[in-house]
Amino acid sequence: MKLSTKLIHCGQQPDALGAVIPPVYQTVPFEHEYDRHGFEYSRSANPTRRILETVIAESEGGKHGLAFASGVAAITAVLNLLHGGGHLIVSDDIYLGTYGLLEQVFRPWGVDITYVKAEDSESFRTALRPATRLILIESPTNPLLKITDIRAVADIAHASGILLAVDNTFASPVYQNPLKLGADMVIHSTTKYISGHSDVLGGAVVVNDDKLFHDLKTYQRSAGAVPGPWDCWLALRGIKTLPLRMRAHSDNALFIAQKLQQHPFVERVIYPGLPDHPQHALAKMQMSGFSGMVSAELKMDGSGVQRFIKALKIFPLAASLGGVESLVNHPAKMSHSYISAELRAEIGVTDSLVRFSIGIEDKEDLWEDIEQALNSSGDAKTL
Ligand code: PLP
Repeated sequence: MKLSTKLIHCGQQPDALGAVIPPVYQTVPFEHEYDRHGFEYSRSANPTRRILETVIAESEGGKHGLAFASGVAAITAVLNLLHGGGHLIVSDDIYLGTYGLLEQVFRPWGVDITYVKAEDSESFRTALRPATRLILIESPTNPLLKITDIRAVADIAHASGILLAVDNTFASPVYQNPLKLGADMVIHSTTKYISGHSDVLGGAVVVNDDKLFHDLKTYQRSAGAVPGPWDCWLALRGIKTLPLRMRAHSDNALFIAQKLQQHPFVERVIYPGLPDHPQHALAKMQMSGFSGMVSAELKMDGSGVQRFIKALKIFPLAASLGGVESLVNHPAKMSHSYISAELRAEIGVTDSLVRFSIGIEDKEDLWEDIEQALNSSGDAKTL
């Protein structure tokens, strides 16, 4: 069965009353029948959540899925495997919320953390220590869309008996399946492409290994950061159209990236689907499509970029991504405003950088909007 069929049908046979769409089991307790159905209290397990977990596991070609209340809650579950100690290797240009979680929660708690260059697999090997327990990467990264060689890093991790977790939010399960490339755990913020309509927070972890599943399940039940049944139902509805939406995101993003490249007020376009992306060949090897995120450096300073963003009519300035609607983001003034200018410069997030989450609207409309905003905010004297 192909992915688009699985995402609509898997785990979702009509129930005893013939309901084709799984009900929202909006209940906390289940009548105790000595666990006949495997449900007794919704923090431990809930039927709507269980269907979502089954579908997400299928989407990644994995054996076990676990749903969490947010992407960050899913990442926390994975980091909790360190039990508050040991050494962790993380790729740079990671989602700033993950960076905050690492620096404000896990480092003070006793986890030692080394950041390495996402695009340089050998830097992961160099960072290994006897105490290293886990490698955490994102590919593509946020917001610079760097690509990490997942297979190479998995080999490095496994040669030293270390686990590899991959945040696959930007690629979505339609375009990249890290478990098939050797990763041990896949993480998603289902808030993004999987739910797809910017109206529900959620997260997920998918694994093949039974022991890992057991440990994560124990954490999920004990820590309790689980999504409610309505949120699971919304994510379940969203995931049914994921393959269709991803094709539209990806087609639109390539079109916009190519148009941006030709515009005189654009310095540099970053999109893994462009042949001049430094890791285009690797992206082609481990991804089957390039998703909907496009970053660009404009030939403008920070205030020029703010003028550009204000001039946009279709793209709200907003922090999220992966919904049907297009969004624009100014990392230096938003997510990355919480870190020092020196650190921003070191990781390459300049004031001129904008990040677009390209939605599924008409691509000509999107370009017309970006073009008019560029033309009205750029300064021809700087060319
Ligand atoms: N991972 C990535 C790559 C993200 O971009 C985000 C949020 O933007 C998260 C995780 C966190 O997800 P959530 O907001 O659902 O906690």
